[in-house]
Amino acid sequence: MKKEFDVLVIGAGPGGYTAAIRAAQLGGRVAIIEKGDLGGTCLNKGCIPTKSLIASVHVLDWLKKAEEFGIKVETKGVDFSAIMARQEKIVKQLRNGVGVLLKSYGIEVIKGRASFISPSEIKVEDNTFNIQKCIIATGSIPSPIPGIDIDGENIMTSDDILELGQIPSSLLIIGGGVIGLEFACIFQVLGTKVMVIEALPRILPGEDRELSRMLERILKSKGIDIKTSARVKEMTYTNSEIEITFESANGLDKVVVEKALVATGRKPCLQELGLEHAGIVCEGGRIVVDEKMETNIKGIYAIGDVVGTPFLAHKACAEGMVAAENAMGKHATIDYKVIPGCIFTLPEIASVGLNEDEARERGYEIKIGKFPFMASGKAMTMGEKNGFVKIVADKETDKILGIHIIGPHATELINGAALAVKLECTTAELDRFLFPHPTLSEAIGQAALDVHKRATDLPKAKFRHG
Ligand code: FAD
Ligand code: AMP
Repeated sequence: MKKEFDVLVIGAGPGGYTAAIRAAQLGGRVAIIEKGDLGGTCLNKGCIPTKSLIASVHVLDWLKKAEEFGIKVETKGVDFSAIMARQEKIVKQLRNGVGVLLKSYGIEVIKGRASFISPSEIKVEDNTFNIQKCIIATGSIPSPIPGIDIDGENIMTSDDILELGQIPSSLLIIGGGVIGLEFACIFQVLGTKVMVIEALPRILPGEDRELSRMLERILKSKGIDIKTSARVKEMTYTNSEIEITFESANGLDKVVVEKALVATGRKPCLQELGLEHAGIVCEGGRIVVDEKMETNIKGIYAIGDVVGTPFLAHKACAEGMVAAENAMGKHATIDYKVIPGCIFTLPEIASVGLNEDEARERGYEIKIGKFPFMASGKAMTMGEKNGFVKIVADKETDKILGIHIIGPHATELINGAALAVKLECTTAELDRFLFPHPTLSEAIGQAALDVHKRATDLPKAKFRHG
């Protein structure tokens, strides 16, 4: 007999499996369809493997400066296959964990590629399922650039680079966005000669310009060659080498590298979903949804990367919760006001709310407070003096519009900052909050004080340098 489900979820990435579990928590009979591995991009090819690699290079980075801490160590070298094996083990363990979670909620996992036959039927391989409610969570895939042939071995996407068997001697990264720069930092620490080519005038074009400028300076000081306002014109692979012709303000230039990573962005994964058979409307290559995450077809929802940027796992999960609740008869809506963004470069960058340019573009008159980690006792003890906290506030109401952090543990610190933005705090409220001492979080309180030029850990404004 054909099985009937209240909710069919397509895609078992963070958005899809969160949605499936929420629907099951609300009493639904739920099935999740997955053509690849449980956990999706995030767990198998994204957040988790990259952060595992970053954890390994952090250890190496620490060892390099051990002597500064009075510790004498002798590093025997890097075992890249062990680093990759550790990463794979973590991924496998978490993937199994997702399976256990789904099973515990009685969610059926259907293996295979799903495609719509009509608004009320889905095909998976040779089986057809009736749709009561459906949540599309098919994620995103690397976006190629015209004229560049990705062979997966030499000219790679972020998926392919996670399969590398050896540390390349040189690596060209096309795209100075989040993914490109995380890999740039990983391979720089591992000893690869890294070059980044970014089409726009600065790396991380979406971030506050002061933070992206500081990151560029730091990465360049570590030896990463960064070319901005530059575009790759041609890439040819011959005799185990890739010859790249790129164009920048200085005209045409050539570089020869062992490997290349194309990290020029991602696009929603709509292929072979048969959306046209269900009449689901797409715009600009993404599925269009309303604030309930519902598509134009009643009872069919879409969430995560497939509905567009920002491509973040926690945004996918938040949308998954909303879609699942609505599919189960509740009335939930998505709130995009506060989505923290984390970049796991060395140093890290994290931000929430509006940056300086965005706030001005929206017509705010703003005040800015900044506090450098160089003036933080805790940062000093950690040997981490690079970076700062920057707060953008509305001059009229004192409300915090955005908080931007570059420096040690920025991706953890942003959580307190995000709460302040979510609760619509003023800088005066934030600067009265008791930040424990000695912690890096004190820098947030001091930056809030600095909005009114009252930071007690900074010299009087007129005596400051830089
Ligand atoms: P996905 O995780 O992409 O899952 C979609 C699933 O759907 C896949 O398993 C796919 O196989 C399946 N699928 C697709 N089509 C079908 C079909 N027709 N039938 C059945 N199954 C189908 N985000 C962060 O928040 N933090 C990070 O640190 C971070 N790091 C990243 C690093 C890299 C290298 C990359 C590539 C991404 C990173 N991301 C990060 C982004 C994050 O991975 C995505 O935003 C997130 O995975 C989106 O979740 P999702 O559920 O929408 O889709
Ligand atoms: P993200 O959007 O964070 O994935 O980053 C992708 C980055 O690649 C952005 O900074 C883009 O400006 C950059 N980019 C896109 N196309 C090209 C290209 N052809 N050459 C160099 N950089 C590019």
